[in-house]
Amino acid sequence: MTCIECGDELLAERADLGYRYCTKPECQAAHHRGLKITTVAVNKSADRIIVADEDEIRRRGEAGEFGKKDTTLSTSYRDLTRSVSARAVQPRVPAPRTPLPRVPSNRRPWTEQQEKIVRLYNGMGLSPREIVERARTNAPRLRITEGLVTKIMSTPPLR
Ligand SMILES: [Zn+2]
Repeated sequence: MTCIECGDELLAERADLGYRYCTKPECQAAHHRGLKITTVAVNKSADRIIVADEDEIRRRGEAGEFGKKDTTLSTSYRDLTRSVSARAVQPRVPAPRTPLPRVPSNRRPWTEQQEKIVRLYNGMGLSPREIVERARTNAPRLRITEGLVTKIMSTPPLR
C-alpha cells in the first residue's frame, strides 16, 4: 500500500482505516476531505469555530451565514490542529450586559440606636404608646414616635 500522492509506503493501520494517502502535510492538504474546522469572523469581538465538512461550509458561506470576506479555510490537517489550539477551545463570550439585580438596601430611615431601644422596650412587652413615653423619658434625643415604633416593629431585625 503506497500513498497516492507521494508514493511512500503507507502504515498498515492507516491503510486499514481506509486512507490512501500518508501523513505528510502536503499529502494531507491534497487529499484530506474530512471535517474541517473553520474560524469565521462573525463580528469584531468574537470568532466562531465551525466544525463541518468543506461543502457545508461553502454552502453556508454562500448563504451569507458568515457574512465577512475574511473567512479563513484551513487547508491541511496540520493547520487544523494549530488553529484549534491557538484559537482556544472555549469561545470568547462577551460579558453579560444585563444589570445585576438590585440588592435590597440595608439602609433604614431610622438609626441603630432608635431601633435598639424600640426593640428593647417591645421585648419588655410595652405597647407602642408606652414605648414612646418610656423613650421620651429615658432617651429624648432619639425622638421616638409611635409611627416610627410601628415601622420598626414591622421590619425584620437586621441581626
Ligand atoms: Zn504521501
